[in-house]
Amino acid sequence: MRIGVLELQGDFEKHHQILQTLGMDSIAVRGPSDLSELEGLVIPGGESTTISLLIDRNELREPLKAFADVHPVLGTCAGLILMARKVSDSRVNPLGILDVVVCRNAYGRQIHSTTEEVKFFEDENSFYSRATMIRAPRIESTGRNIEVLGSLNGHPVAIRENHHIGLIFHPELDGVTIFHELAFQRVKQSQHDRKSQTYVT
Ligand code: GLN
Repeated sequence: MRIGVLELQGDFEKHHQILQTLGMDSIAVRGPSDLSELEGLVIPGGESTTISLLIDRNELREPLKAFADVHPVLGTCAGLILMARKVSDSRVNPLGILDVVVCRNAYGRQIHSTTEEVKFFEDENSFYSRATMIRAPRIESTGRNIEVLGSLNGHPVAIRENHHIGLIFHPELDGVTIFHELAFQRVKQSQHDRKSQTYVT
């Protein structure tokens, strides 16, 4: 399974490590041609204003939207900001992959960054995980099809819409693999199904 990591600016190295831990091939994405033959994409944390500029400079805006129409995308922190429908800062031109409105740096400056233990899911699959937030965005409103996977103080910290996941925190900094698994497991499953079909025929 080949998963890309958007390498325009920010914190991409640790995402490669997580993907490799999960047995996936992780590929650097810097331009449109890098998206071919990928089955999923991580948009990492960093500086969303800069990443937004670089997306246009590298002519990635339309290719990224088209990619997201058919493949899962996992966005962490600035990555989530870029996936939003609307952002409270005109310097960010988001991709509109997730039907959410987000406010940048809503939890204060760097010094206010924090790690919390958060509960995810409310069913028999629920689990606790560390969530490290660094100048995290706040999800101000969510569209009808948004599923909230976990919240802190009444605000969602992890959301899912169709095959996409957005996180306000950085799982890669705590070596947490579950969100990458959740985002890309369907790819794995459909590959598995394809394989079993191949064996059956
Ligand atoms: N505050 C940053 C931004 O708005 C995001 C921080 C992060 O990705 N850790 O771009």
